[in-house]
Amino acid sequence: MPIRPIFITGEPVLHSRAAEVTEFNDELRQLVSDMYETMDAAPGVGLAAPQIGVGLRVFVYDYADEDGNPRRGEIINPVLEIGSVSTEPADEDLDSEGCLSVPGERFPLQRAQKAVLTGYDLDQKPVLIEAEGWFARIFQHEFDHLNGTLYVDRLAEKWKEVANLVISEEGWGKPTLSWLPGRDNLEG
Ligand code: ZN
Repeated sequence: MPIRPIFITGEPVLHSRAAEVTEFNDELRQLVSDMYETMDAAPGVGLAAPQIGVGLRVFVYDYADEDGNPRRGEIINPVLEIGSVSTEPADEDLDSEGCLSVPGERFPLQRAQKAVLTGYDLDQKPVLIEAEGWFARIFQHEFDHLNGTLYVDRLAEKWKEVANLVISEEGWGKPTLSWLPGRDNLEG
């Protein structure tokens, strides 16, 4: 099973806390491999296991860090520490975030500028990444997925209203809806 369907908001697994990974086995290796393929095909800069219907604490990412170096990896059973989040309103141009589980939409959201991610890779080796800027944002977005939180859940009230309207107009917000990267490609 290479590229997997990506679930859309409303599917219960997206709104539940994912479970810790307990076995670093071939099944996990296959899951992570499928997640990379699905993220690349979407295309996206990050993908969490619940987005493909698997309630486990795993995400993958592919983005450049604040120095412009390409960074790609998987993180299993992550812990995320974040810096303070500005109380200023989010900027529509600079802070607009998107999600493969709310496909084609973007809404502004304030995030911490700095984040420290720890966890394990597939070989069970400890990982520690200090991230800033958009790279830190990706970690916050993907980590939220493992706790059943979508970025639209965090929006300021006026944006949340717009997001909820779009979700209902699209007929989303109910179980089992998904799209398949490569077949149903959407903008954004
Ligand atoms: Zn997302």
